Amino acid sequence: MKAGVIAVQGDVSEHADAVRRAAASHGVDVAVVEIRDAGVVPECDVLLMPGGESTTISRLLREEGIDEEIRDHVAGDKPLLATCAGLIVASRDAKDDRVATLDVLDVSVDRNAFGRQADSFEAPLSVTGLDEPFPAVFIRAPVIDEVGEGVEVLAEWDGDPVAVKQGSVIATSFHPELTPDSRIHDLAFFGQEHAAIPTDDDAEADSGS
Ligand code: GLN
Repeated sequence: MKAGVIAVQGDVSEHADAVRRAAASHGVDVAVVEIRDAGVVPECDVLLMPGGESTTISRLLREEGIDEEIRDHVAGDKPLLATCAGLIVASRDAKDDRVATLDVLDVSVDRNAFGRQADSFEAPLSVTGLDEPFPAVFIRAPVIDEVGEGVEVLAEWDGDPVAVKQGSVIATSFHPELTPDSRIHDLAFFGQEHAAIPTDDDAEADSGS
């Protein structure tokens, strides 16, 4: 499996480590590539868009022509995990002219909404699909203030959605890559529906049985 981490800016190596851990737990070999130029995304099975600064990330994606490639990746139903600034960039609307959103996730966000209350905090979070709470690290996190019809809310904090799923896209306000716990990466890339690896059902379908 080839995993691409958008690496124009933000916390790249932590995501690379998390996807390696998630893949290892399934016995899957993963090659992780850092993406700074156009032409690499089309080779990737799964993509990660890290936290950082959404104005900078969105500008560089557009300048390099990577923005269109990410849209095509999602249109092709391939998994994308977007975290914090990545969520802002993936959204439909960030209510900020400096962020050219990709509109691959039908949510609107309020940048730095949590940041006004507390710069950063960690909280145990119940997430749909995970048996035990996830240690969620919030750093100047965006609040999701509107979700479209096709969007499933996987987790809420203080009444606001902080983890969502739409088709092959999972996005979080928090930073799942900053803890040793790689269950969110696991959910994004090896979850049932959009598995990056063939399931037993696929194997049966391929063999015509
Ligand atoms: N608030 C930042 C932004 O708007 C995101 C913060 C983060 O990714 N930790 O880009």
